Amino acid sequence: MQKDIRAGFPFFPANPGIVYLDSAATSLKPQGVIDALTKYNARESVNIHRGVYRLSQRATDTVETVRKKAAEFVSDAAESTAVFTKGTTDSFNLLAHTLTSAKSDIKDFFPAYTSAKPAAILLSDSEHHANIVPWQIFAAERGYKIFFIPVDGDGNFAPPENFLEDISASHTVRIISLSLQSNVTGIIHDLAPYRTFAAETGAVFIIDAAQAVIHAPETIKALNPDFVCYSAHKLFGATGVGVLVGRKPVLDNCDVYQGGGGMIALVEREKSTYLEAPAKFEAGTQAVGEIYAFGAALDFAGENQSAIHSTDNDLRHYADERLQAAGIRVFGLSAKSRSPIYSFEIPGVHAHDTGTLLDEQDICVRAGHHCCQLLMRSLGVPATARASFLFYNTRDDVDRLIDGIGYVKKIFRK
Ligand code: PMP
Repeated sequence: MQKDIRAGFPFFPANPGIVYLDSAATSLKPQGVIDALTKYNARESVNIHRGVYRLSQRATDTVETVRKKAAEFVSDAAESTAVFTKGTTDSFNLLAHTLTSAKSDIKDFFPAYTSAKPAAILLSDSEHHANIVPWQIFAAERGYKIFFIPVDGDGNFAPPENFLEDISASHTVRIISLSLQSNVTGIIHDLAPYRTFAAETGAVFIIDAAQAVIHAPETIKALNPDFVCYSAHKLFGATGVGVLVGRKPVLDNCDVYQGGGGMIALVEREKSTYLEAPAKFEAGTQAVGEIYAFGAALDFAGENQSAIHSTDNDLRHYADERLQAAGIRVFGLSAKSRSPIYSFEIPGVHAHDTGTLLDEQDICVRAGHHCCQLLMRSLGVPATARASFLFYNTRDDVDRLIDGIGYVKKIFRK
């Protein structure tokens, strides 16, 4: 079964013997996705939205179909739509600008915006920098304070008692933006209490789904967030494209982000008027070929959802056991819900040395802070090595990792 799965990924025959354990950074691309990208570039390479000729209309239809699929993959909400962006990071920059802009008129959707108390944004110490830095850029100058949910030494949310009540005594949280799944520990956080709080207080509830989109799409839907951000390239797709999914009426009331062609209704010397969402957020030519590939990636991920889920479970149980027995420190094992993304530390060995020595064994892992410096502080380490598995990985890959760790320990006499 695993052999059949691998047969669909040209990476494996092109890199014989390589154990790829870095899917949390980017997933491998199946043949159908590569074919869709080639189809556009080779045979349908025309621009969208501007042409009156049939080829352009056909390309436009393809892109609009992908838009619908990308929204439906993470949302059951009526009126959901997807804005194409460069990826999760770009989606957060758009959101951080527009949700703190005085030009957005979203009080009717989010009553927290009517409060006279100082405004706040709630993040966690477990967030990727993509879900921290854009908020910081706008927060101070637009009068928002940022609060962080603290995290324990294993990566679990660890808010003190009455955390939300205490914040609410002095501030109104207008925006809650949290990652459903950590790219460092693989923990799938329980966001339900924060979702409930947002619903009760009228705050905007946003999910960073960069990791969860492939491991837990149904959980994203069940939480019914106001906005979801994810990238195509971690979901079998190409780099350079992602989405911001939200409800069209809300997006229609949000301030524009970038200006240019494709987003305007009328341009005059003094001012311009804009199209409705999602077009008003899509200035300039889109990554059309990559959007074609995104469509194929969504189909592939949809068709393989149960296989992804069952491989996640199998590999997690097997790798949990083997890694725990390997005499290393593994983060996140105490969490109730996880998928097989492992950050670990070989005591006395720097993560970069671990990564380099594993590479000598043809094992690809990531080493560093994984764009999560606040989380590294909570875990009490400057960096970790990270092995992330996806459904084309096998128990043999776990065994190879364990052997590789043994080799690193031997070299360092640990
Ligand atoms: N959030 C999380 C949880 C991630 O894992 C990543 C990618 N490592 C991002 C955001 C940013 O995604 P991208 O680099 O595709 O914009």
